[in-house]
Amino acid sequence: MSDRVVRLHADSETCIGAGMCVTTAPGVFDQDDATGIVVLLTRVPEAAHLDAVRRAVACCPSGALTLTEDPEPETPHHSEGVVP
Ligand code: SF4
Repeated sequence: MSDRVVRLHADSETCIGAGMCVTTAPGVFDQDDATGIVVLLTRVPEAAHLDAVRRAVACCPSGALTLTEDPEPETPHHSEGVVP
């Protein structure tokens, strides 16, 4: 199973408000009306938005956006020394 959780991070200190992300994935990104700084509409984008999110991350001119993929949840380890 490959249900990795993809998390999106936006660094508001780094964002220059270029708006490329909003144009590329408007369902995931917005901009602050006053400052133009990126606002995330979700930190865990739906699978349907992932391609657009990856493009947005790639085209962000300031490098403010990052995606991390959590590894698949680990199955609990068996305790050593316990006889089944
Ligand atoms: S593309 Fe990058 S710099 Fe532009 S608004 Fe989005 S996060 Fe900010």
